Amino acid sequence: GFTPADRIAAIDVSEIVAISGRAAAMKRAGAPVIILGAGEPDFDTPDHIKQAACEAIMAGATKYTPLDGTPELKAAIKGKFARENGIDYALDEITVATGAKQILFNAMMASLNDGDEVIIPVPCWTSYIDIVKIAGGTPVIVETTAADGFKLTAPALEAAITPRTKWVLLNSPSNPTGAAYSEADYRPLLDLLLDHPQVWLLVDDMYEHIVYDNFRFVTPAQLEPRLKARTLTCNGVSKAYAMTGWRIGYAGGPKALIKGMAVVQSQATSCPSSVSQAASVAALNGPQDFLIDRRDSFRQRRDLVVAALNAIPGITCRRPEGAFYTYAECGGVLGKRTPEGKVLETDRDFCAWLLETAHVAVIPGAAFLASPCFRISYATSEAELTEAMARITAACATLQ
Ligand code: PLP
Repeated sequence: GFTPADRIAAIDVSEIVAISGRAAAMKRAGAPVIILGAGEPDFDTPDHIKQAACEAIMAGATKYTPLDGTPELKAAIKGKFARENGIDYALDEITVATGAKQILFNAMMASLNDGDEVIIPVPCWTSYIDIVKIAGGTPVIVETTAADGFKLTAPALEAAITPRTKWVLLNSPSNPTGAAYSEADYRPLLDLLLDHPQVWLLVDDMYEHIVYDNFRFVTPAQLEPRLKARTLTCNGVSKAYAMTGWRIGYAGGPKALIKGMAVVQSQATSCPSSVSQAASVAALNGPQDFLIDRRDSFRQRRDLVVAALNAIPGITCRRPEGAFYTYAECGGVLGKRTPEGKVLETDRDFCAWLLETAHVAVIPGAAFLASPCFRISYATSEAELTEAMARITAACATLQ
């Protein structure tokens, strides 16, 4: 029989994928399931981006490209970092991969030796932990709380740093909490890192364009030039431009690291898709005004979901600064009995029960290493969200 390698034996298939799969199967079988699981905008890729891809195909951009990005896309990314973040990256400080996920993978494979530690605040997108493990590193989990706005504090970071710390991994706005670091939130962390020259900083800015209420998005390489030589600024087109299926992510960072990441990529995928790179040039260089309309519509949905959640006895939800997720605490509904006679012990029980009885799929906090909570992805229509929140509210009212 097949025996998995040690490096993957400790890694599970994503719980998000598993729950979404179960919900989709119920839906196919005829149940009226509303899926609030996936981390994917419901909007379509804008037409001017699709058009650029079609033109690229017809113009023959159908071959291998340079290893870590076409010159046109690297120039567009350089322009983006300068224009939107005020960071000057040279072309050889920029890399492109098959999704931000591969950017993270390349970075960890290129930099970690066995046992090197990576500090990861939770709740977090669990891929971070599994990517670090596959690369031979040791994830060091640091808990954050709703009271701290789900943000890492300098004392908590300091307590986690050891001589073996290689990276700190931050994600703002965050999947799954929607929490975003302001300049004031970042400052004490950056000051602390200045005193620990062996520690590198990886920031995942994937949800940069999805922030609300005049929140000013900032990123560490812009705030603290003295850390730029050990900061990897990761981003991508998936969430902002509704391009999850095109699979393009990118990063800016010091040349030696970027080169190491290209070595990993050269033996994994050779290069990102030529057509998707052409489309991404159009995304980054083209009109950006539609981002504001989409953000406004995400904000309305956030407000709808947060208000509905906080009206349910036993559930509390912080109003997130960004992304398209809410992360609600549900400790107050645990220990209660369902009409079917089952006691809900954990957030996994609660979410499984909601799927079975209310036909709403949400993801338990256990999947993000912070319980008892659950994540809602509100990247779906207001009509569906209204119905889903009514069902969750009604279901909770039956608990005793
Ligand atoms: N980073 C975060 C925080 C995400 O939530 C996701 C996708 O869910 C990614 C990165 C991966 O994005 P990509 O589609 O570019 O691989």
